[in-house]
Amino acid sequence: MQLRFATNISVEQYIQQEAWRDAKLDQCPLHPEGGCKIARHGTYRRKSPDGAKIARWYCPEGRTTFGMLPDCLCSRLPGTLIEVETVINQIEAASSQEAAANSMRLDISLPGVLRWMRRRLFLIRLSLILLIELLPLLSNNGQETLSSFRSALGVEFVLPHLRELAGPYLDILPPPLGFGPWSQKKYRRKNRFQQQTGPDPP
Ligand SMILES: [Zn+2]
Repeated sequence: MQLRFATNISVEQYIQQEAWRDAKLDQCPLHPEGGCKIARHGTYRRKSPDGAKIARWYCPEGRTTFGMLPDCLCSRLPGTLIEVETVINQIEAASSQEAAANSMRLDISLPGVLRWMRRRLFLIRLSLILLIELLPLLSNNGQETLSSFRSALGVEFVLPHLRELAGPYLDILPPPLGFGPWSQKKYRRKNRFQQQTGPDPP
């Protein structure tokens, strides 16, 4: 289970300072009343960025492990929220998704880049739509683009700020911003179902 490690440091500082050592968990999320012997359970290493570790706790009663994810890192996707925001900025600024794809990820083919891009775009737009509903502060915004959120909040990169603002709702927001469950399979199944419920062809 992922929990938020509230910190405004950059990923470079996080790695250089080994800031996962500073992560603290005051109470077990499963047993806020205490008495469950929750304890530190080492760290695990992220695949990306290189050198980043995540502090872990384990509750023996709940048989659950908790990882404290710093605000700079993506949940369930490699890399940082700023990297995802940079990709979406390029898509929003380009004349088409294909044009944006041409300037990204030279290591994979165009259909692969488009899938990689659209997955990020889909997940972030979904989070923005949910956040407009959840946070009255953002409801005047009305537009589900990252650039509109950025100018509304007046920051250079808005995703790490949204991780903070969305703190109470992270469990229901999809990754890479939220910690909610998300499975590509589930969405694919749902899409197939929706296609099947359309009118029968003549
Ligand atoms: Zn516990």
